[in-house]
Amino acid sequence: MRPRVRHVRGEIEMAEVDIIDGKAFAAKLRGRIADAVSEMKSDHNVIPGLAVVLVGEDPASQVYVRNKNKATVKAGMNGFEHVLPMDTGQEELLALIGTLNGDDAVHGILVQLPLPDQIDEQAVIDAISPDKDADGFHVVNTGRLATGGDAIVPCTPLGCLMMLKDRMGDLSGKEAVIVGRSNIVGKPMAHLLLDANCTVTICHSRTADLPEVCRRADILVAAVGRAEMVRGDWVKPGAIVIDVGINRVPKPGEEGKTRLVGDVAFAEAKAVAGAITPVPGGVGPMTIACLLANTVTAACRQHGIAPPEF
Ligand code: NDP
Repeated sequence: MRPRVRHVRGEIEMAEVDIIDGKAFAAKLRGRIADAVSEMKSDHNVIPGLAVVLVGEDPASQVYVRNKNKATVKAGMNGFEHVLPMDTGQEELLALIGTLNGDDAVHGILVQLPLPDQIDEQAVIDAISPDKDADGFHVVNTGRLATGGDAIVPCTPLGCLMMLKDRMGDLSGKEAVIVGRSNIVGKPMAHLLLDANCTVTICHSRTADLPEVCRRADILVAAVGRAEMVRGDWVKPGAIVIDVGINRVPKPGEEGKTRLVGDVAFAEAKAVAGAITPVPGGVGPMTIACLLANTVTAACRQHGIAPPEF
């Protein structure tokens, strides 16, 4: 943490810029997961297994899949990587999922999205056994999350919730504003914050006076996919800002080069916020760690073991 100067009624006082270090947080979480895995092995003779399926050769997806598999093995779990050619048909993919659903060594299944055009993504998500749905995208898990059941929760919002609880403790009564209503981030985030007793507002592209709504937030989650859309003067002083966005933009002064930015104008927002996640190094690293946590939880439930609290 670096000190910054804050002006208070004409006086100057030193304050801390609170940058939430998602990388360090994720490393600690992965350590707890590795401990849980080792206990499952010694106490129950169960090794959690995650199968990751990739269709096609998209370079970014290949990197994601490789990283997921590496992290799985590093945590002491079994990693199964299935790479299928770009022209794989839907029936072939569904047959593989059927096999993985019936494989006792596989406790979590993740199909890397997006899928090629010839494959119906929803049909694939629907085909994954809800008990092995490591991403938490199956409608059974969505329904359980919405109704307070034992869901497998989508990894990105789960990671955001963990960082918020770590920072703020009890979230009861906090005003939470989420910008974005996707099924994988915005909506599950809203359910998690509602369960944590926040007062939740979900915003989207038709929200009237978005800056004014954001200024109400003690907790502001941006999941929009628009580079630096959320400005500093949208942030309530002292608010906790979670920036989910990952946007590649041109690097100023370096032609042909790019850099990653979030959905929040970081420099502006950090001057006002109580704490903020950076991009990169904030929410991103938590997503893979939560995928591992979900696989451990799924393995525990499949073997009648009480899942650890991560
Ligand atoms: P989607 O495109 O599915 O959803 C974007 C949401 O933002 C929609 O609800 C849309 O509203 C809303 N939106 C778009 N423009 C505006 C606007 N001008 N004002 C208000 N709301 C707007 O995106 P995702 O939820 O999948 O992802 C969001 C971001 O998070 C992306 O940058 C993505 O890359 C990143 N991401 C990062 C992850 C990580 O691990 N860190 C994981 C997943 C996503 P409407 O519904 O009205 O169209």
